[in-house]
Amino acid sequence: MREPIEWLDDGTLGGSPHSPRFGDRYRGEFGGLDQSRDVFLKGCGLPAAWGNAPRWCILETGFGLGLNFFVAWQAWKADPLRPRLLHFVSTEAFPASAEDVLRGALSHPELLPLAEQLQSQLWGLLPGFHRLAFEGGQVLLTLCIGDAKAMLREHRFQADSVYLDGFSPQLNPGIWDIHTLKAVARCCRRGTRVATWTVARSVRDALAQCGFVMMKTPGTPPKRDKLQGSFDPTWEPKKAHARAASSPLGAARPAASCVVIGSGLAGAAVAASLARRGWQVVVLDAGATPAAGASGLPAGALVPHVSSDDSLLSRLSRGGIRAMLQQAGTLLQAGRDWNPTGVLEHCVEHARKLPAAWLQKPTQEHEQDLTAAASDWTRPATTEQLAHCGLPPDAPALWHVRAGWIKPASLVQAWLATPGVEWRGDAAVEQLVRQEEWWQLLDAAGRELARAELVVLAAGYGSQALAEAAGLIGSRELALQAIRGQASWATHAPGTVAALPDFPVNGHGSLIPAMPLSDGSGAFAWVSGSSYERDNPRIEIRAADEQENFRKLKRLLPAAAGHLAAQFEGGKVNAWAGVRCATPSRLPSLGPLDQPNLWVCSGMGSRGLTFAALCGELLAAELHAEPLPIEQRLADALRPQYVGSRSPLKIQEI
Ligand SMILES: Cc1cc2nc3c(=O)[nH]c(=O)nc-3n(C[C@H](O)[C@H](O)[C@H](O)COP(=O)(O)OP(=O)(O)OC[C@H]3O[C@@H](n4cnc5c(N)ncnc54)[C@H](O)[C@@H]3O)c2cc1C
Repeated sequence: MREPIEWLDDGTLGGSPHSPRFGDRYRGEFGGLDQSRDVFLKGCGLPAAWGNAPRWCILETGFGLGLNFFVAWQAWKADPLRPRLLHFVSTEAFPASAEDVLRGALSHPELLPLAEQLQSQLWGLLPGFHRLAFEGGQVLLTLCIGDAKAMLREHRFQADSVYLDGFSPQLNPGIWDIHTLKAVARCCRRGTRVATWTVARSVRDALAQCGFVMMKTPGTPPKRDKLQGSFDPTWEPKKAHARAASSPLGAARPAASCVVIGSGLAGAAVAASLARRGWQVVVLDAGATPAAGASGLPAGALVPHVSSDDSLLSRLSRGGIRAMLQQAGTLLQAGRDWNPTGVLEHCVEHARKLPAAWLQKPTQEHEQDLTAAASDWTRPATTEQLAHCGLPPDAPALWHVRAGWIKPASLVQAWLATPGVEWRGDAAVEQLVRQEEWWQLLDAAGRELARAELVVLAAGYGSQALAEAAGLIGSRELALQAIRGQASWATHAPGTVAALPDFPVNGHGSLIPAMPLSDGSGAFAWVSGSSYERDNPRIEIRAADEQENFRKLKRLLPAAAGHLAAQFEGGKVNAWAGVRCATPSRLPSLGPLDQPNLWVCSGMGSRGLTFAALCGELLAAELHAEPLPIEQRLADALRPQYVGSRSPLKIQEI
């Protein structure tokens, strides 16, 4: 069930939203728009304060129906001096449905186009962070679903402006109490501007106690007063946000030059994320074309991981899929380069359990109902879906709603086309030499290939040798494992497209039933796989792997295997092989290494499509001490892993 909202007739198009949970209105009695502009935007000195800044971070407590976000976004759009990047981070314990958010904007027609864009991304809001991207990634909304205190503790950025909003302190005291305001203060730097509509004594006292210097100013009619001020404690604030200070290039430092080594999914994603922030990025690759490594896979599946305890991997995979869907939706042509068809997971080996709270309504009033948000992601497969795949009604299977297939090379090309990115092929890096302020990258003959202030190793399994070349040896050797894999594919024979399911199926190997070939012929191919051979870094084709792929397909989808048998048995199947690169935790390795301005983004394992877009954004956000797209706890799980050091997580099968 979605958060219930009553729409009271106030003569406006949509009506006035009222929360039965808190017994309060969502917005002031005159529509809320004036309040939003006057109390919050102007109260924080915006838009003037952000003029010419490279980025600006607004932190809000209480997202409600998103009015303050729309107003900030609208002001950003209208301002010729707008920052390159606008971050809007908002906490919300009880998210309204997408329909209600849109309805809330009906009274303000100028905001409707923005509300429609938000509505299309407001799905699957399970507890935790959700990064939504607008304006080509220049307006980033981080919705933090859960108790404000807990959500704020997962942040390490410093806000430039703070909006304290929410239902009234009498009706929802928790969001105004000293603990929440302390958590807000932890996200402030000296000088962060703060604004709120309430002048309640308890709030003013708590704010003063937390180091905010506030004053009453004339309110937005009919309210007499409002509060505005800034974070200016009499004590030296703790360096709780050490990340900003320890960011190797410094949070405030403008974007500089970077070389990314490797132009697969990982390298291209990093390059695009940095270029969007104004970096000049050179991407070097040993191959003659981009996506010469594992990312040259003809097509791969994009599917979230699920587990009964909603593990780190499961949560990270959802963050990754959301980021990837945004990127693919913006950059690729649906039906040609990708297709978000949904994916059926046939749990051949063992039935996968969904978290109990995803399937059952809560019995206690204070518990949140997650069923609707969870079913936006994954639900038990229906008998119709199973029948469509030729599977019996009792086959253990899940339906992943936000899933599909992607041609990785198309996405790599699109990312490399981002202004500010330059790709150079036939450029195998052998040596990394630290000069005074920069890295010099040399080939085997000692010729300089490039130089830059920052280097990112995104060379798949090759990242291990590159880290070694940069001096990371012994206990600082990167723990990466090569896992060779082979996929089978063929152009469809007459009649086989119609005989296969309309969507990919995974669970024991996988089948992508129909992707158009990139040669312009209009023909369709299927892709099935893949073999999994640990500790083999060689790209080689093996006949035995083809047989293995066919055997897997027979268990995964017996009917489909029957239709493709003639091609498998008649030697009409092509093979494609590549080398995955995995870490002991089976999570990517992302972060700074023990050398100045040297970062790694690798270890995507079997989930490059799931993780690449998220990792690109995460790396860029960490470099600039921006708000992260995922909780700090999840980001910490991606720290680079070294040989011999204990994995932070138990090893999982990927
Ligand atoms: C058979 C198979 C099936 C798969 N199926 C799926 C799937 O369905 N879904 C999914 O999400 N993932 C799948 N994967 C995994 C996915 O392909 C990888 O996770 C992803 O491509 C990794 O991207 P990357 O950029 O880290 O590495 P790569 O794409 O391997 O890129 C690394 C690049 O670095 C370059 N390089 C290496 N060393 C150097 C050097 N010294 N100098 C310069 N350049 C260098 C290489 O040329 C290469 O282009 C599959 C993988 C395989 C092998």
